[in-house]
Amino acid sequence: MQKFISCALALFVLSTTLTVAACAPESKNDRGMYAINMEYCPETGKIVAEMTAEVANTSKVALEQLKFQLWANAYRADAKYKPVSETFESSAYYNGASYGEMKITGVSGAQSFEVCGEDENILSLALASPLAPGERASVQICFEVQLAEINHRLGITANTVNLGNFYPVLCHLASDGFHEYVYSSSGDPFVSEIADYDVTLTVPEKYVVASGYAAEELADANADDGKRAYHVSAEGVRDVAFVLGESMECITAEVQGIEIAYYYYGDTAPEETLAHAAESLAFFSESFGGYAYPRYTVVETDFVYGGMEYPALCMISSGLHESERPAVVVHETAHQWWYAMVGSNQFESAWQDEGLAEYSSALYFEKHPDYGISYHDFIEASERSYRAFFSVRSQVAGEVNTSMNRPLTSYSGDYEYRNIAYDKGVILFDRVRETIGERKLLRALKRYASEYSGKIALPSQLAGCFAGAGVNLAGLFESFTEGKAVI
Ligand SMILES: [Zn+2]
Repeated sequence: MQKFISCALALFVLSTTLTVAACAPESKNDRGMYAINMEYCPETGKIVAEMTAEVANTSKVALEQLKFQLWANAYRADAKYKPVSETFESSAYYNGASYGEMKITGVSGAQSFEVCGEDENILSLALASPLAPGERASVQICFEVQLAEINHRLGITANTVNLGNFYPVLCHLASDGFHEYVYSSSGDPFVSEIADYDVTLTVPEKYVVASGYAAEELADANADDGKRAYHVSAEGVRDVAFVLGESMECITAEVQGIEIAYYYYGDTAPEETLAHAAESLAFFSESFGGYAYPRYTVVETDFVYGGMEYPALCMISSGLHESERPAVVVHETAHQWWYAMVGSNQFESAWQDEGLAEYSSALYFEKHPDYGISYHDFIEASERSYRAFFSVRSQVAGEVNTSMNRPLTSYSGDYEYRNIAYDKGVILFDRVRETIGERKLLRALKRYASEYSGKIALPSQLAGCFAGAGVNLAGLFESFTEGKAVI
């Protein structure tokens, strides 16, 4: 994700230790599958859906329950962990306070179910018999989501409908079982394994559907009902998301056989935005290894922050100033490598994808001087921002927690989160490059992308990809992540 936060460079937006082993689906048989049949009704502002989830037990323990994250419940009036901080409340709730929720209306394939967790954020299904490691189970879940009026990942916005994180998604399944996460107004709390998706989406015919994977219109049995149904099939993705818009236009380009689509409605220079997406996708493919999906979609939508990434799709805010758009598009495109393809625990070590996505932007701008943003300026802006943060916090609080492997809930707010996950992350990768040089840095990042694509990599596994660089960098990574490095 990228937030609207100013920094020293006015031209553009710069924006607990893990104790479990990474859990990595290694073959298609280890992957889960979601078949979702859903309809969005604008009259009620609701999604009504039925979903079949096929779960593979990739852990080392027998599972007595299956657990799913209910991210849509973060939009409840009484949510403990709200989706936006007070700073962003007024721009998010454009029509005043508005709330949503998810209701589980039926479950089959399990003995019983309950909505639980720290903040009604978990659906727990009790299985008739424990699911042994390596076994698979299939359950059906019927649910309804009341959408809030909010410019957010999930909600009815002023001009569009954002459908991100709208369905029950399996909790992060590590070797020791399920890990539950709460929502967080700072950062992206999502940690999902890759799975195959088959989605049928019915919407009023007035809507254009923006999707990361091709949305194929289905033959309409009731041609005069004013609805259209679309089928989307996506293999090996961490989640699926859509944006619905009434007056969106679409332009496309092709890069290395990948179709790049840009859906927009307010952008007065759409060809330029499309070019930022196409050029950065080409650059990152060359730098880190090939893009994994058949299509890449960028969607302009009403969104409280700068942008938000999903596999093969990113949302960029309609509120971006023209000068801010390149940095946001490039950052979100880098996320296709860092989180979408190469997964990491965004809740426990957000710097791993945010720091790397932001640093990848520095690499992109360095090689594209037309933007007028030099590598040096980019790094210096991060350093300036981080040092100002450190200085202010030291004076106010006496000491500052600058560790990087820590849960999103440990941050005091957006300011601390941005400086630790983004700026300090950028500085770390810059120091790595200073030590081993650009060629070895890129070789290590290519290795990281190829070894961990489709998996969830631990911070130590990212650091481990630099082991062959001829210099022992483990200490450098550790000094940054444990908050010991002096910057
Ligand atoms: Zn981001």
